[in-house]
Amino acid sequence: MPKRCMPNRTVIDHEHLWHPYTSMSAPLPVYPAASADGVRITLQDGRELIDGMSSWWSCIHGYNVPELNAAAAEQLGRMAHVMFGGITHEPAIALAERLLGLLPAGLDKIFLCDSGSVAVEVAMKMALQFWHAAGLPARKQFLTIRGGYHGDTFHAMSVCDPETGMHGIFSGVLPAYYFAPRPGCRFGSPCRPQDLAPFEDLLARNQHTIAAVIMEPIAQGAGGMYFYSAHYLRAVRELCTRFGVLLILDEIATGFGRTGRMFACEHAGIAPDIMCIGKALTGGYMSLAAAITTERVAGTISNGDPGLFMHGPTFMANPLGCSIACASIDKLTASPWRERVSAIERQLSAELAPAAGFAHVADVRVLGAIGVVELTRPVTMERIQQRFVEQGVWIRPFGRLVYLMPPYVIEPRDLQRLTRAIIDAVQDSSMLEGN
Ligand SMILES: *Cc1c(COP(=O)(O)O)cnc(C)c1O
Repeated sequence: MPKRCMPNRTVIDHEHLWHPYTSMSAPLPVYPAASADGVRITLQDGRELIDGMSSWWSCIHGYNVPELNAAAAEQLGRMAHVMFGGITHEPAIALAERLLGLLPAGLDKIFLCDSGSVAVEVAMKMALQFWHAAGLPARKQFLTIRGGYHGDTFHAMSVCDPETGMHGIFSGVLPAYYFAPRPGCRFGSPCRPQDLAPFEDLLARNQHTIAAVIMEPIAQGAGGMYFYSAHYLRAVRELCTRFGVLLILDEIATGFGRTGRMFACEHAGIAPDIMCIGKALTGGYMSLAAAITTERVAGTISNGDPGLFMHGPTFMANPLGCSIACASIDKLTASPWRERVSAIERQLSAELAPAAGFAHVADVRVLGAIGVVELTRPVTMERIQQRFVEQGVWIRPFGRLVYLMPPYVIEPRDLQRLTRAIIDAVQDSSMLEGN
């Protein structure tokens, strides 16, 4: 595209395109991407940025991946889409086959849907329909922990952290559910009775009205990038079983190896009654997600009133998405992803560690291919973003959190450029709000 067209394009974008979580009247600068390959995003002006975000947890193999391109092209020539009502197709069956080989035992009823938020809606509806069919319709509430993020649609929002999720704006419309404090016990530490007590107490007191507990296993994402003890998660599983409440685990961010295990619940050696997956499912190529449950839940819903599960999106099991998901899973499982993620973990730990000593740094934490520097104050987005771009890296902080979740295929020297850019930025107080 000729350079002189650029201002026009920028104006159209500014005036007409709403970007995620932004103001339409005071939009922050956006950087036009022209292409992406491997771990590099090329901007329209020719600058190359090393990707530290995997486009929000999803592009685990990087960009322009030959096997994924081939799967997309091949399926495109056959059938881009066909309705899933009354029709089935090989890409969906092949995807089910692959997922069954990866998922914890017992999770074998797969509902494919369009996005992570929808998968969360579907999971919550499954829990409600389960109790309705089981003849205990009073079980309509949900219990979660603070610091969570489950998506932007209404029921997903209702179980996001009430503060970072800004529940105040939607009060009166959002259902008010139960929130236990964020677990005090961190990943790698044991869980003390006082860490679990508030959760246990809420569950015990409301056991007859709670349909399900919903949480992100081990690693909380957009609600605060926090990693909690596997013992806590194991105790939650035991309590749910003891009180007869369903457990929904949202693995949308953590699934497909990000925390060092295929699914984060494996750190605790447990399985949920319903699991949500999304994000990396297609290697970041298309929006596809799933809510997966057990024979017990699916059977109860299907044999009770009304005998059907009441959900069916237009683009359910989109063949293009399913084909790419198969290729992504094949590429992941054929790769040394465990070694790659643990090498990234070691390098992130070593190279981000110095930040812990800086004046404005509250905490540094690493789990799998996730590295987080938590500051004492929020960053000034515009300034820090520009600095990162000038340094040739793509890192997108939010609030007080500057973090990395690179594609698993990143080379050590590229990862080092990312960690250096963070170290450099977080010791500069002019990057913080109010400076
Ligand atoms: C991103 C995310 C979602 C929402 O997924 P969308 O595809 O953005 O709707 C839900 N839960 C978790 C844990 C996520 O990270």
